[in-house]
Amino acid sequence: MSDLSMGGSLDNRKGKAVVVFSGGQDSTTCLFWALQRFEEVETVTFRYGQRHALELECAASIAAELGVRHHELDMSLLGQLAPSSLTRADVAVADAPAEGGLPNSFVPGRNLLFLSFAAVLAKGVGAQTIVTGVCETDFSGYPDCRNVFIQSLNVSINLAMDNPFVIETPLMWLDKEQTWELADRLGAFEFVRERTLTCYNGIQADGCGDCPACKLRRSGLERYLARRGADAARAAFGTGGGQ
Ligand SMILES: [Zn+2]
Repeated sequence: MSDLSMGGSLDNRKGKAVVVFSGGQDSTTCLFWALQRFEEVETVTFRYGQRHALELECAASIAAELGVRHHELDMSLLGQLAPSSLTRADVAVADAPAEGGLPNSFVPGRNLLFLSFAAVLAKGVGAQTIVTGVCETDFSGYPDCRNVFIQSLNVSINLAMDNPFVIETPLMWLDKEQTWELADRLGAFEFVRERTLTCYNGIQADGCGDCPACKLRRSGLERYLARRGADAARAAFGTGGGQ
């Protein structure tokens, strides 16, 4: 009961949460966030024809390592309904959105479906909270990552199941630099950097360096490391937790 290594008193943890989990930087940071706040945490990963089976393996192995019960649900119908560069091997990931449109990595309805199924699972395992790493700040091209959608869906899910779920979005207003900072404050900086898979080309950790996901992740990391270095040099406030 005296373990303060995660930066907070574990005595305050209560309740149960289900984390929507892909094994990437964002959802792994959310998993650490949830582990610090909830007595019980389970993860759910959706199989929907991802380009890389490694993503599913990565999610399962992180959950196992952190001692978290892990669920994998088959949502392969999503790839059938909505061909996108993330669900179809024959569609390449484009660097930029089609003119005036969304990035071709956008999977229409993905978060609507994932969060609805996560809520059904949460009901089944007795969890009141659903945690998702969606973020409006960096990737506002995805309509189902916006806060207004999450708020709306939370109401709908609660009405649909007559249950007071809370959807938590710890990254909603953070940019990628601040997401790295959060991982660091949770004592998970190295873990997130080395163990997660964000790259669209299926390369773990720092990735291929070229795809849009790698570029976003790396620019945030570089900005955070530069700021952390400057802070450490000033040695005025804190260590940032990662030293
Ligand atoms: Zn990449």
